[in-house]
Amino acid sequence: MNQSSPPGPTLARWLTGARIGRLPVRSAEHPPPALSFEFMPPKTDAMEVQLWHCIDRLAPLAPRFVSVTYGAGGTTQARTHATVSRIVTDTRLTPAAHLTCVGAPRGEIDEIAHRYWEAGVRHIVALRGDVPGGGAYVPHPDGYAYASDLVAGLARLHPFEISVAAYPDIHPTASNPLADLDNLKRKLDAGATRAITNYFFESDTYLRFLDLCLAAGITAPIVPGILPVTNFAQAKRFSELSGVVLPAWLAHMFEGIDEDPELRRMIAAIVAAEQVRLLQANGIDEFHIYTLNRPELTCALAHILGVRPQQAA
Ligand SMILES: Cc1cc2nc3c(=O)[nH]c(=O)nc-3n(C[C@H](O)[C@H](O)[C@H](O)COP(=O)(O)OP(=O)(O)OC[C@H]3O[C@@H](n4cnc5c(N)ncnc54)[C@H](O)[C@@H]3O)c2cc1C
Repeated sequence: MNQSSPPGPTLARWLTGARIGRLPVRSAEHPPPALSFEFMPPKTDAMEVQLWHCIDRLAPLAPRFVSVTYGAGGTTQARTHATVSRIVTDTRLTPAAHLTCVGAPRGEIDEIAHRYWEAGVRHIVALRGDVPGGGAYVPHPDGYAYASDLVAGLARLHPFEISVAAYPDIHPTASNPLADLDNLKRKLDAGATRAITNYFFESDTYLRFLDLCLAAGITAPIVPGILPVTNFAQAKRFSELSGVVLPAWLAHMFEGIDEDPELRRMIAAIVAAEQVRLLQANGIDEFHIYTLNRPELTCALAHILGVRPQQAA
């Protein structure tokens, strides 16, 4: 995918390349974007079945990688490891294991990373994580204090591909937007090659964030994280915790349809489709989709973006 993209640092190309005026029809000039998908490790047997149904359904879309989240404080350590390992052994997908450093000594984190390397995992999404149950963050006395320290530690251990988190709406505990941008740059300078953003709803905010990144000397792709929202009440709760701005127009879209899941799914698809199309028209050609282990909306978005199932080789 994307082999005909012009060379050069992604971010500069995204911001200065030709805008696409109409819906691009797939062509050598407009190859389909590169996608990645995020999954959560399952908690029960039924959720495991749901996850693997989702993976089987999305695999033919040939994502660049699929990532599996990690409960901060290691709460999903075994389940994340089992899911990532099964992706290595049972599929042709490239997995990325999320790893957080909150609440753990360096030795423990290094050991987990080393086991991933041994299992054939070459990509880590390196995160600080949050204190389980809430509360102010205090670094572990023998731990990696921030994600930038974790990136440096991982890079010393093995030549992992490393992705990190970015926040178009600014991380909720950042002292100010510039400090948060400096932190992102530190993570990339420490060895990460891509940032994946937290979800956002105002595409203008994301595009302005790219401008700020480029001005700060960042050239790595800042891949938009897309969350198709079907459950507005839940999205509102998450957004308050993670500092994501919830626009009034989105609340208006979901007004009065709590009891109508079918309509909510249709609205979710329309809102997310409009978002990815607007970003695609602005030159963005990589997307990370938060699947919540459900394939339908992700399939719809991929299809709209021009991605079609690939034949197994
Ligand atoms: C794509 C993506 C995937 C995620 N996956 C997971 C997951 O699997 N599991 C999970 O538990 N959470 C996950 N999260 C959430 C993430 O763990 C939280 O947002 C967490 O609060 C911050 O993690 P970080 O890696 O961005 O931290 P950092 O980059 O370390 O930043 C955290 C905060 O500290 C500030 N900061 C950084 N360095 C310093 C310093 N030296 N001095 C003072 N302040 C500093 C930053 O500005 C920021 O406000 C994910 C988030 C995203 C966007």
